[in-house]
Amino acid sequence: MSLLADVRSDGVVPEQADVVVIGGGIVGVSTAFFLARKRLSVVLCEKGQIGAEQSGRNWGWCRQMGRDPLELPLAMASLALWRDRAALGGADTGFRTSGILYLCRDKAELSRHEIWVALAKGSGVDSRLLTSREVADLLPSAAGSWAGALYTPSDGGAEPRKATAAIAEAARRLGARIQTGCAVRGVETAAGRIAAAVTERGTIRCAAAVLAGGAWSRLFCGNMGLDLPQMQVVGSVARTRPLPGGPDLSLAGPKFGFRKREDGGYIVSQAGALITDIVPDSFRLARAFAPALRREWRSLRLRLGRRFLEDWRQPRRWRLDGPSPFEAVRVLDPTPSAAVLDEARERLVAAFPFFRDMVVEETWGGVIDVTPDALPVISAVGPPANFFIATGFSGHGFGIGPAAGQLMADLVTMDTPAHDPNAFAFSRFAEKRSVPA
Ligand SMILES: Cc1cc2nc3c(=O)[nH]c(=O)nc-3n(C[C@H](O)[C@H](O)[C@H](O)COP(=O)(O)OP(=O)(O)OC[C@H]3O[C@@H](n4cnc5c(N)ncnc54)[C@H](O)[C@@H]3O)c2cc1C
Repeated sequence: MSLLADVRSDGVVPEQADVVVIGGGIVGVSTAFFLARKRLSVVLCEKGQIGAEQSGRNWGWCRQMGRDPLELPLAMASLALWRDRAALGGADTGFRTSGILYLCRDKAELSRHEIWVALAKGSGVDSRLLTSREVADLLPSAAGSWAGALYTPSDGGAEPRKATAAIAEAARRLGARIQTGCAVRGVETAAGRIAAAVTERGTIRCAAAVLAGGAWSRLFCGNMGLDLPQMQVVGSVARTRPLPGGPDLSLAGPKFGFRKREDGGYIVSQAGALITDIVPDSFRLARAFAPALRREWRSLRLRLGRRFLEDWRQPRRWRLDGPSPFEAVRVLDPTPSAAVLDEARERLVAAFPFFRDMVVEETWGGVIDVTPDALPVISAVGPPANFFIATGFSGHGFGIGPAAGQLMADLVTMDTPAHDPNAFAFSRFAEKRSVPA
């Protein structure tokens, strides 16, 4: 992937820190930033490059609209952070309040959104349904007529390829040490508590560790004997050359979606068109994910291929004194689906002829980590005490990343969090499993 902002690695890995953050995506860097702001000594270890996996590959939407009501307060708090550059240590994230809109073909789609608007009523979010006429006025370049739309003017977007790096640098200015090319192989415990993080470049004694490992979190937890139900799906994205004069807001319609980038080009893709590789975990986790599979069945494109064998051969347990799986793959870089992107382009041009002459400069794939209820885990684990997990953002962690990092930092320091973390507890999965089927 080109144009990813490079974050240099601090020199020698320190021998000691208050907290080690494992993973340099938006969630890890935000956690490190808010911990450093509390004056804790923090080392952030990233096996590859900062923001090179999901956090640098997403659409860049920062969205409150359509969020699970349990997550909505966090999404709203995150929007407030994105808007306020000083609150993120002066980080230039490229954030812009552009508005986000879901176009609807018919009354059935509108009614589904109406239910969400009712659920979100009282939250303070400015989402509203637009009539067909209002859509035409707001989007003069749209072809044909639409039944209406769900619209949230206060939603926006940031630039994935620079936001994570910019927050990492803000964390460094507050004293956090950033180690890239530095996989954490695992953790050591003593008397039931975290004692150290073992990296490929040395051991860091620490009082707490936060796992913000994105799609790798299940594997990391498995080596500790923790069962984190997390699966992976692959999204595909295209980036166009600058296209002056196009729509400013971000939008999803039937089988297409876009966001205008800072440079005047667009991110183009289609919402929900996700490739799901069938792997051994598909069977191990079938029961936990069955309701999600039933719900999302139509948007999933199941694929049985080489990923099954790769995953089968993947060691699930390893010793910490030799190379770990995290050193074998520095950056997850799946192939994008040409079929998904061709279809998105075709639908986009039909709905907005303005895009007819767009030139695609680059396409990429991104592995998305999902939990059974599509809510993240932002939680203490225990045992071991002082081990925390912030992962499973299920396709919308970029937007809520900053507030998720803030919440995680509050949990680590046992400060009263601004948001109720119960919905994000790791223990919810074990509780669910004990409920009779
Ligand atoms: C195509 C696509 C479109 C998306 N669109 C949006 C969107 O528009 N809006 C939105 O809000 N979200 C979107 N998302 C989801 C969003 O990108 C993710 O939810 C979010 O970036 C997750 O951040 P993270 O920090 O948890 O994980 P990641 O960004 O994946 O970061 C995890 C990091 O941990 C590192 N790591 C893992 N294990 C170790 C280890 N043992 N040692 C050291 N480092 C380790 C990895 O190398 C990685 O860099 C999209 C995702 C994709 C792929």
